[in-house]
Amino acid sequence: MADPEPYIVLARKYRPQKFSEIVGQPGMVRILENAFRSDRLAHAFILTGVRGVGKTTTARIIAKGLNCTGPDGEGDKTTEPCGICESCTQIAEGKHLDVMECDAASRTGVDDVRVLIDSVGYQTADARYRVYIIDEVHMLSKNAFNALLKTLEEPPPHVLFIFATTEIEKVPTTILSRCQRFDLRRVESETLTTHLMSIAKAEGVDIDDAALALLVRASEGSVRDAISLLDQAIAYSGNRVQAEQVREMLSIADRSRILDLLELILAGSIGPALEEFVDQYQTGADPEAILGDLADTVHWLSVVRFTKKSIDDPTLSPAIRERGAALSQSLPLPELARAWQILVKCLAELVHVPNTKVAVEMAIIRLCAAAELPTPHDLLRRLEGTDRTALPAGTPTAQMTEGALPSSSQSGEQADSGHARTDEDSDRSADERLSRSDEFPKAETAIHPSLESPLVQSALQSFPQSKVIVDGKQIN
Ligand SMILES: [Zn+2]
Repeated sequence: MADPEPYIVLARKYRPQKFSEIVGQPGMVRILENAFRSDRLAHAFILTGVRGVGKTTTARIIAKGLNCTGPDGEGDKTTEPCGICESCTQIAEGKHLDVMECDAASRTGVDDVRVLIDSVGYQTADARYRVYIIDEVHMLSKNAFNALLKTLEEPPPHVLFIFATTEIEKVPTTILSRCQRFDLRRVESETLTTHLMSIAKAEGVDIDDAALALLVRASEGSVRDAISLLDQAIAYSGNRVQAEQVREMLSIADRSRILDLLELILAGSIGPALEEFVDQYQTGADPEAILGDLADTVHWLSVVRFTKKSIDDPTLSPAIRERGAALSQSLPLPELARAWQILVKCLAELVHVPNTKVAVEMAIIRLCAAAELPTPHDLLRRLEGTDRTALPAGTPTAQMTEGALPSSSQSGEQADSGHARTDEDSDRSADERLSRSDEFPKAETAIHPSLESPLVQSALQSFPQSKVIVDGKQIN
């Protein structure tokens, strides 16, 4: 009986072998195909982008395309390397004598580069081109870059350099100016979804849409991560992959539960919000991920309000989209913006805290407390005189310069409830003043020292990053 085929991880099995198979980088592919066709290849390329978007894969395809001889050994350079000729197979196995691949993260010294460069002058063993692929090129030392530069200035015609880096800003401009640069983008969710679906189909795996959406979201635009996650999901659940299992596998909180939590937070319900968090924590969700998901959701709700397209996020289920659309209309934008600020701050603080669960609980308490405070819009309304009754008699009016976002009228009504409204014109002028600006909330507040009402105190708390100016001097 024949041995069963050895198992190959999906990321390797489905690694693109020709330009037409590269996922999600149509611009780069078109330029490279044209360059191959018109025989106008640069002598050096630099590929940049986050990990897993296909930098080294592209480099290898270029190397194969240049040296492929075709199945019959007669072929010329091509954008569709055959994958079966000696040249193609040797490059795929990393054994080709004229295709040198090195990782600058482990070989950064000038000596390493010198060894490499010394070989540039030689004729190729039997290939058309000698290709040098240097991964993480930004890690090279200054001297190594200088040594490389001389070669890049006058490379022999049969030599091609391909650099890959995740940190292009660390590559000297002298090098960059001698390379053709490609910025590989994070792959769009739609493209990744289609790609994963086709792999699942080829593997005979039945995967539901929600599970697919979760995998795509977790991969953050990296094809390699997406395929590895699919591999993991298949190992975890077998040939029928469902959202519930993927969620367990990724230890992520359910988006609908994140919306539950956010609603409790924005209603200022500390107790129920903490209970909801603990419940999610106990079912296996990571506290940091919950905080990150809250921030993502706040961002999503803010954006959905203005762009219809963002609601069509394929990584979200139709039910969640519907709920998000409704919520985004009902939640005042200043409240979302304030929640965002606090979340970003708390996320940054997590690195200093040994127990993330405790830190996230404190973050939730902070968010709930902030939700109780009036928004800048409410304050402005009250200070503009609509609610003069709220101020102690005889106090001078405080003024806030423009700098807050328009809020939906709902928050104003909630906060103002119980106060008689007498002057509609002044109300409207507050709206007009607010709607002119589009930044939030860096108000510069000018307040008279005698104005120590609770209202002003809450204004000070609402604008922790604002300057409060009294008689031309900042007092906070
Ligand atoms: Zn070939």
